[in-house]
Amino acid sequence: MTEATLLELHDLDLQLAEAREAAHVGKLKKLGFEPGERLSLERLRARLLAGVERRWVQHYERALQRYGRGLVAMRERVCLGCFVTLPTSASPGVGESLTLCESCGRILYWR
Ligand SMILES: [Zn+2]
Repeated sequence: MTEATLLELHDLDLQLAEAREAAHVGKLKKLGFEPGERLSLERLRARLLAGVERRWVQHYERALQRYGRGLVAMRERVCLGCFVTLPTSASPGVGESLTLCESCGRILYWR
């Protein structure tokens, strides 16, 4: 189930990005996160990555490094990462819900 795992990974990476910012440490403590929490988040991340198809992992990691997020939604065939309108031919195959944005390279999640 690549889609669901990728969505979970995406949420986790947003959490991790927050955890990395020192300014958020106080806030995280208030939310119940312990200083050691980041380690277990990293471990969970590795487990999630193992459940995602390799071709998507590569695209995901590349876009994450470049833009700070690897997965974006799309609406009316517009990539909500770079706001380019994709051609009809860019639709995912039957039974799939992921494609790559031809313009920015983020993974697009079709709903
Ligand atoms: Zn895009």
